[in-house]
Formats: sequence, structure tokens, C-alpha cells
Amino acid sequence: MLTNAPRGTKDILPSEINAWRYVEDVLRKVCAEFGFKEIRTPIFEHTELFQRGIGDTTDVVEKEMYTFLDRGERSITLRPENTASVVRAFVEHKLYADGQIAKLFYIGSMFRYDRPQAGRYREFHQFGIEALGSDSPSVDAESILLAITVLQRLGLKDLQLKINTVGCPNCRPQYRKLLQDFFGTKSQELCEDCQSRLTRNPMRILDCKNPHCHEIAMNAPFLTDCLCDDCRSHFEEVKKLLDAVGVHYEVDHSLVRGLDYYTKTAFEVQYPPLGAQSAVAGGGRYDGLVEEIGGPATSGIGFAMGLERVLLASEKQNLLPQNTEMTDAFVVCTNKEIFQSAFNIVMKLRDRGLKVEFDYTLGSMKSQMKKANKVQAKYVLIFGDDEFARGSVILKNMANSEQKEITFENIFSELQGVEK
Ligand code: AMP
Repeated sequence: MLTNAPRGTKDILPSEINAWRYVEDVLRKVCAEFGFKEIRTPIFEHTELFQRGIGDTTDVVEKEMYTFLDRGERSITLRPENTASVVRAFVEHKLYADGQIAKLFYIGSMFRYDRPQAGRYREFHQFGIEALGSDSPSVDAESILLAITVLQRLGLKDLQLKINTVGCPNCRPQYRKLLQDFFGTKSQELCEDCQSRLTRNPMRILDCKNPHCHEIAMNAPFLTDCLCDDCRSHFEEVKKLLDAVGVHYEVDHSLVRGLDYYTKTAFEVQYPPLGAQSAVAGGGRYDGLVEEIGGPATSGIGFAMGLERVLLASEKQNLLPQNTEMTDAFVVCTNKEIFQSAFNIVMKLRDRGLKVEFDYTLGSMKSQMKKANKVQAKYVLIFGDDEFARGSVILKNMANSEQKEITFENIFSELQGVEK
């Protein structure tokens, strides 16, 4: 137990870190191109924020949150997602004060008490964006395209983009009623969760994972039949903009966000080869959320992308960089008497920005050369007794095995530019 990470969590080891950094670099670059700025919010928040911001009737809030009382008896929750926190920060710091749209992105750990399996963890990482302050359909299209661009830049193929509209508080009550009538006649056949959703939040039945509920839901009425003019034209405009850039998408009427503050566009990107956990990113518009959390009425839209799943998909398609980190120089010294001088050179070279390693045990020449190979040193500096007495060292180029004697003064000039 002491030597195992808690169930559903994972260490990210040095051998894996390059892949993570690579993905993070790509998404930071895309965010810069799209004009999104990074925000970092606390890992934990007041529980109430998530109850309000995600919704009391959702699985995340009902079953999956890591909630505890702190020593001051406040109810605290490890963030299960980051939209509510970003919106809270937006309101708290009045990021709306300049009247401009706030375009924010984040990368970080989220926590959900989920059943762990491939692609589903209790601590996982999300990259996400939130655009607050505009109800223009072009922001919807831009947000969707940002997600798609990140995934395309990584080289991922076989992605599926699904979009839908979930209406707004104007047109949804009528749809709710239609759904209640439809599912009401079949309530005995629904799972226990859906039976309670029937009165509380019937739209959530549409995305129930239970196969039998799913089958019943296939014949449910579509929201498109009740959309108000505003929602209808908004959705049309989003589709036109996606068409304009030639992005392929599918309209999926079962894609829902069943809370009142979610409005209009909903979307999901899937990578089917990941099987049961094929959703790579999901998001949508939430024009009522900022107000719900106590801010001024402000439109918003965002998505979150699961980085473990992006990495799994990239690995499947062989897109991740190999661990190619090299060491610029390895300093070899077998003589305790002259080690101080060698150590001094190590530090000076590092000061000049070179990656330099040395042997801590003063082992044999053979074992030190082995270590130099292991860290993929480009050059080895050998502090031999005879050369040292002459004020010089041996410089060995590991690529071609050529070696020459150089004076101390020339070490820096010989190694200049190695790191490039
Ligand atoms: P959600 O916040 O539930 O809309 O999730 C957004 C994205 O986060 C999903 O599409 C997944 O890629 C990822 N995700 C959600 N839950 C988990 C989890 N438990 N483990 C790993 N990734 C997850």
C-alpha cells in the first residue's frame, strides 16, 4: 500500500515527460495563435461552486466528487473540472471590466471518483478553454476549431466531431415536456437513475450509458423540433462557419448538456479506437453560467480535452517524439586529487548553458565512459593525470570517437555551440 499510488492515479515518469511536454507545447502554441491566455486556478474550491456550476443533478456532483471538510469545517472539493473555477475567477477578478471577450485556457489535474479503467482515472489532466463575453456563433466555431486544430497539429487521424444544439431556457421547457411525455410511458423500462432523471432532468436520459435506456432514447423526439428562432439561426451559423473551413462534422441529437445554464451549441470530439472511453474532448455554450455563479449576465463557451486520452490516441498512431534528450558533455575524472578542478569545470560549463554530467563515484575510466554513453553525451572531457599536469584535458567527440588534447583555456571555445 505504501509503495502504490492511490487507485486511479498515476505517476508520470521522466521517460514519459517528453511526450507530455510535446503535447503541451502544441496546445500552448495553438492557444497563442487563437489569442487565448493561460489561467491557473486552485486545485480545490468551495463545494458549492461545483454544485452550482456543474449542477446538482449530474453524476459528477452526485457521485464523483472528492469532497471533505477542512480543519475549519468548510466543505471543500478537489476540482472535478475547471469551467466553474475559471468562471469564478472571471467574476472575482472582474475580468469583464474592460468590456472585451476574455479568452482563457488552462492545463491541470482534475479529480473524479470514477471507476478506473483504460483512459479513465481518478486524477486526470485536462486542457480546456473558456471564452467569456460574446454570444456570437463565430466564437462557437472558433472554440470547436481550436480543439480540432490541436488534435490535427498532433497529427491525429480518424477523429469524429459531433455537434448539437441544446436550445435555451426559452425553448427547452417545451422540449422537456415532450421528453417527459415520451419517457413517461416507458418509465418502468428505464434504469433507476433515469427514472429519477425523468422528473428532475429528462434531457440527461438522452445520454444515459445504460444500453436499454440508450435504445429507448433513440426514438425520443428531437429538440430541433422545438428550437426557437434564435437557437435555430445560431446553430445554422455555427454549421456554416464549420463548412466554410471544410471541417467534417456529424449532427448528433443525443449529445446533451442537461442543465439550464447550458445553451445552444454542444460538441464532442471522439477517437473511436479508444473504445469505451473514446471521448477526447467535449464542451459547449453556457450563456447562463456566469450569472448562476453570481456574476453579470455574460455569455460563455468552452471545452475540456482529456490529455491522457490524447496521449493514448497519439501513442496508438505513433505520433509521440522519442526520448532524444542528450547531454552536451560528460566530465571523466578518476583521480581524487584533481577532482576539484574537474568539478569546477562542470559548474562553469553549466553556467554557460551546457548540459553537463559527471560521475559521483570516481569509478574506473571504463565505468565512467559507460555512464557517458548512457546519458548520450556528445563530448567527453577526460581529466587524465598527465594531461592535467600539462594544464590540459582530452576532449573526445562521441559521434566519431575522435579525440584531442586541449588546454583548459580552450575548453569553452571548443564546446561553444554544442547545445545547438
Ligand atoms: P467532461 O468534463 O466530462 O466533459 O470531460 C472532458 C474530457 O475530459 C473527456 O472528453 C475526456 O477526454 C476527459 N475525461 C473526463 N473524465 C475523465 C477521467 N475520469 N479520466 C480521464 N479522462 C477523463
